Amino acid sequence: MAESMKGLHRSHRCTEISKENIGQAVTVMGWVQKSRNKGGIIFTDLRDRSGILQVIFEECDCGSAVFEKAATLRSEFVIAVEGIMTARQGAVNENLKTGDIEIRAKSLRILSESATPPFPIEENSRTKEELRLKYRYLDLRRPDLQRNLMTRSRVATLTRAFLADEGFLEIETPTLIKSTPEGARDYLVPSRVHPGSFYALPQSPQLFKQLLMCSGYDRYFQLARCYRDEDLRADRQPEFTQIDMELSFVDVDDVLAVNERLLQKLFKEICGIDLQLPLLRMTWQEAMDRFGSDKPDMRFGMELKDVSETVQGCEFAVFRNALAAGGTVRGINAAGQAGMPRKKIDALVEFAKGFGAKGLAYMAIQTDGSFKASFAKFMKPEELNALAKAMDAKPGDLLFFAADQKTVVWDVLGNLRLELARQLDLMKKDDFRFLWVTEFPLLEYSEEEKRFTAKHHPFTMPMEEDWHLIDSDPGAVRAKAYDIVLNGTELGGGSVRIHQADIQEKMLEVLGFTPESAHEQFGFLLDAFQYGVPPHAGLAYGLDRVVMLMVGADSIRDVIAFPKVKDASCLMCEAPAAVDEKQLCELGIEVAKGTEE
Ligand code: ASP
Repeated sequence: MAESMKGLHRSHRCTEISKENIGQAVTVMGWVQKSRNKGGIIFTDLRDRSGILQVIFEECDCGSAVFEKAATLRSEFVIAVEGIMTARQGAVNENLKTGDIEIRAKSLRILSESATPPFPIEENSRTKEELRLKYRYLDLRRPDLQRNLMTRSRVATLTRAFLADEGFLEIETPTLIKSTPEGARDYLVPSRVHPGSFYALPQSPQLFKQLLMCSGYDRYFQLARCYRDEDLRADRQPEFTQIDMELSFVDVDDVLAVNERLLQKLFKEICGIDLQLPLLRMTWQEAMDRFGSDKPDMRFGMELKDVSETVQGCEFAVFRNALAAGGTVRGINAAGQAGMPRKKIDALVEFAKGFGAKGLAYMAIQTDGSFKASFAKFMKPEELNALAKAMDAKPGDLLFFAADQKTVVWDVLGNLRLELARQLDLMKKDDFRFLWVTEFPLLEYSEEEKRFTAKHHPFTMPMEEDWHLIDSDPGAVRAKAYDIVLNGTELGGGSVRIHQADIQEKMLEVLGFTPESAHEQFGFLLDAFQYGVPPHAGLAYGLDRVVMLMVGADSIRDVIAFPKVKDASCLMCEAPAAVDEKQLCELGIEVAKGTEE
């Protein structure tokens, strides 16, 4: 029978007790990790969110009634124990924070019993994730997940304190808003009061935070829940949290500076790391050229090299044809890998094909300085020499080349670079390399939609020096947009916003809006711009990703209390689910026949 808390008060969490408390009476509460009855003595490991404490029940301390009750303890029972702290009488457990002490119980209350859990509650669980997610409330008892969520809470608290100190106001924006088709797919919520009309859940507070700047709030932030109905990849969730901010009367440098200080504070307090400011900065163009990625991992080199000029005029058709079609030939140098077995190289060629490469040329520099290349017979010795030189290759190195249109080559070599680094173990989780990537293109061409779309979003300010190209060469216009990248992951991004109605209208026109459709979608923002709008800029971090990298987790699911799985469902509460006919009726909604699951 579950006992009550009457008259009981917890004095400490399990690991808030140390040798200093020896001799004191304490009251602790938590879950039974395990309990062993060794005849006249019962050893119980008591667990709470702070860790584990050993409890000893012996008849001479607690009397026979308590001892008998203790003999019924099973894993995951919730108990309260009053007793006296002592030095550990058996062997000290080096793995426990409280390994040198124990509590000798005087009383015991069983606050609730537990059925046998479907999997053991233990660190580094080997239980399949599906089962753990079904019983997430049990999974969340595991120490590693508890630590992750405690870190997440600290990040939120520190962020709030830091931003408040810097003059930011925490302001909530609505989560039932109007759908905007630009960007990812919206989650829709039907309106009962307005049958046939829908709210959207926000993909970000973007328009509202800009309006707050129009309203004079100057510096805003929010830990904002955002929703995007995308096909999920490993590191995506349909709902996620942003540290979202917006500032008035600032330009790029001001936003970067305050955010560098925020990152410095967070990484010092949480990870004990001293970030040297200013953080490294690189333009988007440079990042693509050197690393084939707009979020390069800076923990290792292996940079891309353009060898188009060096191979110009060679007989190798793959190189020749790519160049003739206006493409490029670039390579990376896997230093010291000349001895890589053929099988592994073949697997890398297949890997490259997955990113659109037609093939991958390679060349090993043997220890005697001779070359072994997949294309050796099509090149003269001096051409091979020139190529090795252009790649800074030394004996023992292995070179890979991709020849195609520039964007394909970037993608292929950028990903190959990462794959090689994974295989060669060049990316250490505790090596934190930050990078700002700046001057992103304003627009990108969508083959699917046959039009330009906004690379960041439609409110991003073009760079003044490029704006004259907006009609003649829109793809060449750069934006005042920036991303903060950590170890190859985009932690966040933002931009200076357009604050001039004429530029904003032109931008919407380039994106394919008519004046009417622009007004229909963003009329309130365009209107607001007519009543005095300060220059403003902002940024948002993916909080889940920030915490994931801080704690070294492999997935953001490990830093979210109740995450969803790939098909956007929750295995525990089984959302989404069908609803009552009556509910649908009230909303004026009918599910089209044949579309139900
Ligand atoms: N709203 C943007 C996003 O969600 C961030 C920003 O521009 O501040 O990516």
